[in-house]
Amino acid sequence: MTNTRMETIMKIAADPSTSIMLPQQANIDFYGEDVFNADTMRVYLPKQTYEKLMATIDEGVALDATIAGEVANAMKKWAIDRGATHFTHWFLPLTGSTAEKHDSFLEPEGCKAILAFSGKNLIVGEPDASSFPSGGLRSTFEARGYTAWDPTSPAFIKRHGNGATLCIPTAFCSYTGEALDKKTPLLRSLQALSKSTRRLMTCFKAGPKKTTVTLGAEQEYFLIDKRFYLQRPDLYQAGRTLFGAAPAKHQQMDDHYFASIPARILNFMHDVEKELWKLGIPAKTRHNEVAPAQFELAPMFEDVNLACDHNMLVMETLQKVADRHGLVCLLHEKPFAGVNGSGKHNNWSVSYGKGNLLNPGKDPHQNAVFLTTLCAVIYAVDTHADLLRMTCAGAGNDHRLGANEAPPAIVSMYLGDQLMDVIEQLEKGTPKSSKQAGAMRIGADMLPPLPRDATDRNRTSTFAFTGNKFEFRAPGSSQSCSEPNVVLNTIVAEAMDMIASQLEKLNDKDFNSGLQKILQKIIKEHKRVLFNGNGYTDDWVKEAKRRGLPNISSSMEALKALIKKENIALFEKYQVFSRRELESRYEVNVEEYHKRIHIEGEVARDMAKNIILPKVMEAYTNALTINDLAKKQKLPTVNAYAKQLGTGISALMDSIAALEKALNGKHEGILASMKELRIKVDALEKIVPDDKWPLPKYREMLFIY
Ligand code: ADP
Ligand code: MG
Repeated sequence: MTNTRMETIMKIAADPSTSIMLPQQANIDFYGEDVFNADTMRVYLPKQTYEKLMATIDEGVALDATIAGEVANAMKKWAIDRGATHFTHWFLPLTGSTAEKHDSFLEPEGCKAILAFSGKNLIVGEPDASSFPSGGLRSTFEARGYTAWDPTSPAFIKRHGNGATLCIPTAFCSYTGEALDKKTPLLRSLQALSKSTRRLMTCFKAGPKKTTVTLGAEQEYFLIDKRFYLQRPDLYQAGRTLFGAAPAKHQQMDDHYFASIPARILNFMHDVEKELWKLGIPAKTRHNEVAPAQFELAPMFEDVNLACDHNMLVMETLQKVADRHGLVCLLHEKPFAGVNGSGKHNNWSVSYGKGNLLNPGKDPHQNAVFLTTLCAVIYAVDTHADLLRMTCAGAGNDHRLGANEAPPAIVSMYLGDQLMDVIEQLEKGTPKSSKQAGAMRIGADMLPPLPRDATDRNRTSTFAFTGNKFEFRAPGSSQSCSEPNVVLNTIVAEAMDMIASQLEKLNDKDFNSGLQKILQKIIKEHKRVLFNGNGYTDDWVKEAKRRGLPNISSSMEALKALIKKENIALFEKYQVFSRRELESRYEVNVEEYHKRIHIEGEVARDMAKNIILPKVMEAYTNALTINDLAKKQKLPTVNAYAKQLGTGISALMDSIAALEKALNGKHEGILASMKELRIKVDALEKIVPDDKWPLPKYREMLFIY
């Protein structure tokens, strides 16, 4: 039998598309052409209708239902002009992916047909969505689920081969109005934070303005050749490799990070960006990440609701375009053991009117609004670390959090030297100065002095202040951005309310001194969460324990935050989740976790039994034959080698049997047995002849593309 691995490598080597650089045009006229955005609406809608709709989109004014018919008509006309034959309510069920059920515009009329799309079609849908997880909120016999148009996230067109579909972003809820999706709670949390922000800003004598939460979601991912992928059932069934010995070279040279992007990958990235730009998604940066075959894409920040929808489209586009390029995009948090996993850095900030409340300005000590917002976030993150940790729970991210790469499972905040100094002064009295960053000299006289960022970078912190926003680094690469932002919005809303309720009691004369006292108290009580050092060290784990910070290393434990009494009270107070919704989400998450582990366990067992064991047996048979021959001819024997294989095989069989048994029990047992099995398999990979090994190896998947 021929070796498929070697064949695959030769095919990749001979494939011209892997090395050709395609000519690329610098033209971005097509930006947003597949979005029903403000410009398009102005063209397609009557002026009055346009203005009413924009008031809803920009100012959150309740939608005037009488305009739905006109909007639907305009949308249909535009979509048909752009080649669409179908429409769908596009929503974000609790599976964590996106959902769409297409309807054609077609409506038969006698022998002919017309293209129709009504106001009702636009506003509400009733997909038979009984198979989505609801955590007990619906039973299948009362399966009604409704999708409701979200006018604040513009409709867009999704293209495929020779057709196109109009996608209308919607919220998905049950007959009784309970949220069954990831968008509804996000919109509710936005409302809560808007209210609290306005209340707080009123204390500072600011007039009524719109609150905008901004999100920039950096997306990490891996790319491997599809021909390898198809030889790895663990990848296409579980999304990550369950076996694979460490290659001699992986990321220890740090030579992949920010390195020159290979031609094949650059072509892929260019294509991805083109698709995203058509959808009005502002993809901005691209680069090689730390692990071999790992990359990152970051868009410009946007309004959080839109940014969350866009991130779902980013993930989908990465996968779709990869396929077109003969690649596979792996979004799993830890596709390869021993090298870095992938995260999704959640860059979050809040603006009031045009002003970013987290912009420190030149002299942060003078910027009372900034310091108040900063203290609100410190209070929120320390008080609700368990909730933030919960948002990153998941079978995939468990491999990442706490390992020596991603931030640890301890939630801590990094402020940088300048802010830390201001906070320390504030704790003691009135802050008098801000450490000025000054100029940074590069050491080459012909270069001009550069202004230095006042905050340095700290890559080991869970929650880092990075200039004018907070970067939450723990979320996993495959998850929706919704949860982290629902929690952030809600806990900061609570913190702002807590501060506002005290400020409201002060008269003008005492305002400044009163504010100072409030902030001092927050700093005193919550500074334990501030940590500027290296979050990857064991010392920090010990220190965090001393400070009483939670270190929740498993998902199962982390998820319990969803059903803690005080957290239910918090979400109910801010009308973000009801108790029933929280309980249902807890159930959905726990169930998903168990299913994933179980699937992984079964895949591992099958691969070990049906793919790996037979091949190792072949190698063993060979060794035995050679040994016999050698004995007969009185030549040196290969006893030691044969014995090594034999021992390896019996250990492998023991581990398969153990996993088989564990599959009837709890997830901890399955995970432990998989770990044992992997040790046996990876040891065999190192001794079985290379041409007998049936799975693409790490050194191939991560380096040959
Ligand atoms: P890095 O990898 O160094 O953290 P990137 O440029 O990859 O930086 O990503 C930074 C992200 O932060 C971008 O998505 C950017 O748009 C976003 N960002 C910048 N300012 C804000 C803000 N005020 N609110 C939210 N996100 C922001
Ligand atoms: Mg980045």
